[in-house]
Amino acid sequence: MKKSDQLSGLAVAPVQALHPYQPGKPIDELERELGISDIVKLASNENPLGMSELAKQAISAELAEGSRYPDGNGYKLKYALKEYLSFQGHDISLESMTLGNGSNDLLDIITRCFSDRDSEVIFSEYAFAVYAISCHAVGAKAVVAPSKDWGHDLDAMYERISEKTKLIFIANPNNPTGTSINKDLLLEFLAKVPERVIVVLDEAYCEYISDEDFPDGIGLVEKHTNLIVTRTFSKAWGLASLRVGYAVSHPGIANILNRVRHPFNVNSLALAAAAAVLRDDAYLKASVECNAQGMCQMALALEHLGLEFIPSKGNFITFDTGVDAMEIYQRLLKLGVIVRPVANYGMNSFLRVSIGLEQENSKFIKALDSLREEGCL
Ligand SMILES: *Cc1c(COP(=O)(O)O)cnc(C)c1O
Repeated sequence: MKKSDQLSGLAVAPVQALHPYQPGKPIDELERELGISDIVKLASNENPLGMSELAKQAISAELAEGSRYPDGNGYKLKYALKEYLSFQGHDISLESMTLGNGSNDLLDIITRCFSDRDSEVIFSEYAFAVYAISCHAVGAKAVVAPSKDWGHDLDAMYERISEKTKLIFIANPNNPTGTSINKDLLLEFLAKVPERVIVVLDEAYCEYISDEDFPDGIGLVEKHTNLIVTRTFSKAWGLASLRVGYAVSHPGIANILNRVRHPFNVNSLALAAAAAVLRDDAYLKASVECNAQGMCQMALALEHLGLEFIPSKGNFITFDTGVDAMEIYQRLLKLGVIVRPVANYGMNSFLRVSIGLEQENSKFIKALDSLREEGCL
């Protein structure tokens, strides 16, 4: 037996069965592998505008205190969030907020607080991969509800609630499919889920959406004490490298999360940058506009190429190559374009591409076009 297999046997059973999360390929890795430059990365739903200048300034100012531990309660960021959310018509107390090292950290904290090996955790087919990882890491049983039209089928999820159900994850919109759930359906669902079951509404992309019928999860927390809404600074706010996200819930739930949260889970630079970017209205507006334009550009190009795609509410679009997507992924890499295979979701012929700047999108489109010319698509 190989040494690494022997060592793997030391892990607890649920961890032995885990596969690590597959991140998008970093640009410098591809540079090393192929010796090419001028690479476009459209693989991790990052903000193509780069970091807000206000965030950069806040980070510089914070460096002076770099040898000290961060504020473990994140007071200034929570206060900035309270202010930001009040502009959206919400009155949220600091005690209702929990900060995370990215929202992934929060998803993990939530799973550890509310489920164990005797629990069942419900999420949808094609839902964000981290739900399954967190769930399996604590040895809980993953109950995967079949999807409807690539999105969440809330009826199918509801039907799967049992005595053992502790947690339900909903991504709105979902990654990697970009599908969303409208307000009426979500309200109907929340009204019937038993209060003893925690519902996590992952709103990682909500800033991009202004549709009337898209639900604002934070407005639902007061009525539904079993609801936890998670959001992130990684996407529309452009701080993916810093790892910071937040959850809004009943203070009683936040109190539970706080017991398991690592004491200094969000670093000072991230705290300062997030508080600063929340006050950068112009940055958010530019991000949303850039995404809307890029989404049109990409959707139109895919249509021209005759490739089917799943209409997306996020900052990415997932399309059907009609062939083995890994082959197309590899060929795109050679042309200097990094996208994301989604075979780990069982979507073998699909690729997910993030919306970039106009010229980045064009490079991707040209590369696809050349593959079609060669007869690969
Ligand atoms: C990107 C993403 C997140 C956010 O991850 P962070 O840890 O905050 O960077 C959460 N949920 C979904 C569905 C995502 O796509």
